[in-house]
This record gives sequence, C-alpha cells and structure tokens, in this order.
Amino acid sequence: MCGIVGYVGREEAVPVLLQGLYKLEYRGYDSAGVATVQPDGIRIIKTKGRIKNLDDKIQQEGGLQGTCGIGHTRWATHGAPSDVNAHPHQSQNGRIAVVHNGIIENFLDLRHALEADGYQMRSQTDTEVVSHLLEKNDTGDGVQTLLATVKQLRGSYALAILSADRPQELLCTRRDNPLIIGVGQGENMIASDIPAIIAKTKQYIVLDDNEVARVTADEVQVFDAQGQPVQKEIQTVNWDISSAEKGGYDHFMIKEIMEQPKAVRDTVSPRIENGLPRLDDAQLTDEMFHELRNIHIVACGSALHAGLVGREVIERFARVPVSASVASEFRYRNPIIGKEDLCIVISQSGETADTLAAMREAKKKGARTIAIVNVVSSSAAREADSVLYTWAGPEIAVATTKAYSAQLAALYLIAIKAGLARGTLTEEQARNYCQQILALPDQITEALRTRPQIEHLASLYHNRQSVFFIGRGVDYAATQEASLKLKEISYIHSEAYAAGELKHGTISLIEEGTLVVAMANDPDLYEKTLSNVKSVKARGASVIMVTDQDVEADPEICDFVVKVPTCDPALSASLSIVPMQLFSYYMGLFRGCDIDKPRNLAKSVTVE
Ligand code: GLU
Repeated sequence: MCGIVGYVGREEAVPVLLQGLYKLEYRGYDSAGVATVQPDGIRIIKTKGRIKNLDDKIQQEGGLQGTCGIGHTRWATHGAPSDVNAHPHQSQNGRIAVVHNGIIENFLDLRHALEADGYQMRSQTDTEVVSHLLEKNDTGDGVQTLLATVKQLRGSYALAILSADRPQELLCTRRDNPLIIGVGQGENMIASDIPAIIAKTKQYIVLDDNEVARVTADEVQVFDAQGQPVQKEIQTVNWDISSAEKGGYDHFMIKEIMEQPKAVRDTVSPRIENGLPRLDDAQLTDEMFHELRNIHIVACGSALHAGLVGREVIERFARVPVSASVASEFRYRNPIIGKEDLCIVISQSGETADTLAAMREAKKKGARTIAIVNVVSSSAAREADSVLYTWAGPEIAVATTKAYSAQLAALYLIAIKAGLARGTLTEEQARNYCQQILALPDQITEALRTRPQIEHLASLYHNRQSVFFIGRGVDYAATQEASLKLKEISYIHSEAYAAGELKHGTISLIEEGTLVVAMANDPDLYEKTLSNVKSVKARGASVIMVTDQDVEADPEICDFVVKVPTCDPALSASLSIVPMQLFSYYMGLFRGCDIDKPRNLAKSVTVE
C-alpha cells in the first residue's frame, strides 16, 4: 500500500521527497505529507488529496527547509482520509515523526495502554501509537529504541522515523511491506520502491523483514532483530522505470494476483482473536445475528460473485436464508426486505452507483446495512450502518483479483461470526474454520505455483472461440468469477454453468474442441461433477479440471488437471479462483489484449 520516501544529505530534502512521492503515485493514495528536522524541531506539512495539493500547501506556508526528512502517501485503512490522519504522525513531545505503510493489528490495545499513561491521540490512525511508543521507549539510542518498539507491534509495517534529537539521521524498519535504501554519494534515501530513488541513485539495498537501518548522509547501517550488524549487498537498478513501478511485473493485474496472500492475511488476521472472529470494527455483534430473518447480499460484477460464494458459506454456517442479487435489479424490484433483515453490499471502490442505490433502498425499508469495501471513507462506507473493510491495498488493474479474494475472506468471517452467534456452529467448529482461514494465505501462495502450468495451458487454448466453466455449489459460484475474468481480459466468449444444469439445453453447444473448465473441490459433489465432465468429454470437448483431488489426466475424463491445495470445501473458492485468474491473464496476454485496461471497462462504475 502507498508510499514512503526519506532523504538525508546535503540538499534541501523537500523537493527530493516530493519528486519521490510523485514517482510512487501509481501505488494509489488519498493523502500525503512531509516532515523535516529544522533547528527548532520537527515541522510537518500534510494534507488530504493529491501530492499537488501538498506541494501547493508547502508553497503557501513559505516552504519547508531542512536536509533530512520523510514523506508519505497514505492509503487509509484506519480513519478517514483527512488532514489529521495523513502522515507523518508526531509523538506527544513532538520530537519524533513517523510514516507508516501497513496495518498495526494490536493498535487498539496499545492505544488504550498509552492513553492510560497520559498520551493523547490526535488521529484515528493505527500509526499514531508507534510515534508515542517510540517516545515512551526512548533510550537515547535510536536503533535500540526502534527494536524495542517493534517487538510490541503485531501486523505489517514499513516505518520511517525522524527524530529532532538526531537531526541528521533516518531510522527505518519493515515487516511484510516493502522498503529499500537508496545508496548515494554524500546522500542516502529510503523508499517503498525504486522509482522514488532513481533520480538520485541507481544503487540500493533491500531491507529484509525485521531488519532495522540507521541512515545518515554518509553511512547506512543495518541490524537484525537482535541488534547485530548485518552486511547487506548493494544492488544496481537495471530495469526501466515503468516496469519498476509495477514492482518488476509486466502488468498490475499479475502483480495484484501475486499480492493475494497478503491481501487475505491483512483482511483476516487482525480480526481473529484467540482463535475466533472479532468484528468490532464493523460493529457486528452477536445480538444482531440472533433475530435475523434473511440476509440479502447485493453487489455487481466480481463483487456479486464474491457474494454468491458468501451465500453458500453463510447458509452453511449460520443456517439463515441468504440471497445474492444483482444490484441494478434489486433496486427496482421493490425488494421484500425490512428491519428483521440484514443487507450486505460489496464494492471494491465503495462508489458503485447501482450498489449504492440498492443499499439506500434497503435502508429506506428499515434493513440494517453492512458494506464490505476496500476504499476507506468511500460513499458505501460512509452511508452503511457499519463497514467491514477489505484491507487489500490499492487495486489498479481494472479487473479485480485481490479485492475479490479479500471480499471472500471478509464474508467467511461474517459467516463464522453469524454461525457462532446463532448457535449453528460450535465454538470448536468456529475455531477450526478460523484456523483454516488463517492458513489460506499460505495455500494461496501454493496455488500461485500453478503459474507456469497455466501459462502453458493458455498457450494451447488462447485461440478458442468459446469456453464453458462448470461446477457445483461453491465451485459453481467460483466458476462465475472465473468466466467473468476470462471475458474481461481476453474478450473470449464464456459461460459459467451449474454442472448439473448443462444437460438441460446448453450441452447442445458442446462440440469437438470446445474448451470446458470444470471445478471440483467438494468431495461430496465430486462424483456428480465427474459424470458431467465425462458427458462433455464424450462430445469432444477439451477439458481442464481444477481440483484438490488426486486425479490424473485421463482420455475419458480430462486433458489436464490443475491441482490446488485442499481446504474445507466451503472455503475452496479462495484457492480454485487463483489458477483461473492466472488463466485469464495469460489468455489475454497471448491474444495481445490490454491487460490492465480492458476495452469498455472502468475500475469504478459510478453510473447506472
Ligand atoms: N494504516 C495506516 C493508516 O491508515 C497506514 C496506511 C498506509 O499504508 O498508508 O494511516
């Protein structure tokens, strides 16, 4: 998420910081800020909005001098995008300033403890606790203080720190968020990514997880988590800027596909406490689920497909009727919904016009509304009764991948919470599901290893005119997303069909060479799906099976097997979708399509 830049050297820091921040704009952000050390202490200028606004504000305030400073572009996760919540954040005594990317999962506990010690919070961010903790833990040695502080943090972070007591020194550290150190002549930098340093230097050090660095104009010292010095290799940039902005990937879509383990982990792990879901941030209490009559999930596109999986999972876990509706239909059909009902709307941007209108309709009829959204303080987030953020980070490719996966994860949490509250899941079952959800990020990493195989399959099949996806239950819901992804990226006609429904008409379209992708990840339904697969194979189809079962390609059944890891069948969409996202990506690539900006599509659909 978002961007960090730091500079220490002999030049004025702010122009270098701004130039660096502009280079990190591609990462997405909603506010920006800078801080430098001046003779009378740290000065910060920050603002909601674009870097240009920050630039203007700095001019209006007469500039910001100093040769050591930090800058930040924020993608809000905790607290609305606003001037106060923008980074840097200062410690109580004002002597320390911090910028942060990521999420401090235990910030509430830390905040309460700090408040009990008399520290006053100025923002709603999770980040601010870090600046106060650094003040509280200060031993006079920056590295030791930082090491002691990060031991108290749970979650993911890249941090850059400025101290008025050590005016020519930057400190930084990271866990699960990128951070590099640009190594120059008489000047050094810190940054989230290479484009931010490249105007100054092509040499850089990659900081590893849990390492801490002290950076001055003439020296970079790196220490491990125990405070022992670490010898780091200095690397040289040898790629062009545009690929650097995509973190070395050719397209945002593939970058975002590969980021899914982190997107799911960030969405889930802060919300599982002592092995059970805790959704206080979304104000989802047990009482709310007790009296529930119906749940209506309303969304569009991929978010609707996440909702279709959600319907399956919530009904299984909580035994309450769930519908999943197309928002543009729901709003005009005078929906039967009232105060005994819950309406869950899902939207990456939180600005989808149809979804917003449907939510307003549900609210008007008295239903309680929850928004699952990725963009903090978006319209859906503000208007819903409560909001469950997917912490997937900014998604830039038009076709969603990581936000969809994070939406699934959020729905699983709701399903378990509802099941527990309604007594349809025992605590032991709920714990078991939570454990499985926590294991999903590693399993998604494993599913991503199908990439070379999928690239090969796309090389074989990218000239097909039409593709059918079939599955049952959760697999059927996942095929609907797989089919949409293929249409969006490769412009190939495709359909998703409930495997048992094919024979009621559509099977007439299967002929020699038609490509059929079958998903079969539920042992209870496996044999049934297999019969459907055999029947298309018998009519000459080429078949790819996506399954967790140990099956081999067999001329009577399928041409290729794509093996995904095994998890509870209720959660399997999170794994089976991964090779299918890769499939769409490579099919589009072989067909020469515009991967990140498919024709006729927009990222945030704000029209009806
Ligand atoms: N969680 C922090 C916030 O909401 C940092 C977000 C970011 O990575 O920019 O302020």
